[in-house]
Amino acid sequence: VIKTLPYFLALLFVVSTGFAGTIDVDVSFYEAPTELELPLHVNGEVMNVILFIGDGMGNAHFSAAQYAAVGPEGRLHMQTMPVTGLMGTYAKNRLITDSAASGSAMATGYKTDNGMISQLPDGSEPETILEASKAEGKATGLVATSTITHATPASFAAHHFSRSEEKEIALDMAVAGVDVLFGAGWKHWLPEPDGGRTDGRDLFAEMNANGYVIARTGEEILAASDTPVIGLLRDGALYENDEEPSLAELTAKAIDLLSADDDGFFLMVEGSQIDWEGHSNEEDEIVRRTLLFDMAIGEALNFAKADGNTLVIVTADHETGGMALTKGRLDGSGIVAQFTTTNHTAGPVAVFAYGPGAIRYTGMYENSDLAIKIAESLGLEDFLKDRAD
Ligand SMILES: [Zn+2]
Repeated sequence: VIKTLPYFLALLFVVSTGFAGTIDVDVSFYEAPTELELPLHVNGEVMNVILFIGDGMGNAHFSAAQYAAVGPEGRLHMQTMPVTGLMGTYAKNRLITDSAASGSAMATGYKTDNGMISQLPDGSEPETILEASKAEGKATGLVATSTITHATPASFAAHHFSRSEEKEIALDMAVAGVDVLFGAGWKHWLPEPDGGRTDGRDLFAEMNANGYVIARTGEEILAASDTPVIGLLRDGALYENDEEPSLAELTAKAIDLLSADDDGFFLMVEGSQIDWEGHSNEEDEIVRRTLLFDMAIGEALNFAKADGNTLVIVTADHETGGMALTKGRLDGSGIVAQFTTTNHTAGPVAVFAYGPGAIRYTGMYENSDLAIKIAESLGLEDFLKDRAD
């Protein structure tokens, strides 16, 4: 026992201090913003909202991406946005949220329990900000790098008691009337053996019969000229490699299609896998996925700058990994990321906003308040009336 004690103590030290790694990743693909501070617009009507959710993206995640790509004096696209806020993330039944509860809060304006998709513990299913936008005649879209039925995108266009039943969630999303659905995960939409549905239903065929364009390759997605369209690559999640359109390209395509609607649009774009790399404590992949997410934000900001009636909001649903940057040089080299958990952590996440009335998003508030603020920006009176108490 005495002899093995030092080894035991060494193991205990590693376990208790968590895993650390030095960031060493190719960032040459990254296109940095040319304008480092965007102006604050006080006036102007909001016709369109583009909401970006970096799943699991805490402050250390985007700071690591910033330092590695442009250094501490440089800025990511999200960091050029003039308004910043802090958003609390706790779930109704847990201090530490999951993506379902936080996504549901941002989508509906109500906190709920972990695991639930825009359903409350009493079984009620409040309208989402996407559904309310659609009811006002706006076009709607969801873009994600995960399966499109994953917790975050699902929270905007489905209602279900469990995030894990993605094939049930697909049934909701197939008839939700979302104009643009881009992402991955056809296994939940197609019957066996092409997909994983055991009820024999081919949701692509059903949606096609209802007027949807079906896209299964990157070329088909980028060539799409009509809505509604569902474009899912791969049976599971995107790899975010050169074989696929980038999240920036998918976002630009979604904006292109949705902006054809004169009534405006609501679009949610998720950088889904920042969270997964956080769970795996993979600092290099956190940086790569965050930079790819940020380039999609750059596309939205370019559109918003030219349009003048578009509000862009960037936030996260929670932090993943308990990540901290504990070493590094001013030139962005030698950055050490240390992790305290392979799970989510409590605490507020950042919110960035640009566009008319962006100042509404300053201060500290809860994820459930974000839906209210978006409804106020878009003038969704019925949504607000239902939540006035
Ligand atoms: Zn997670």
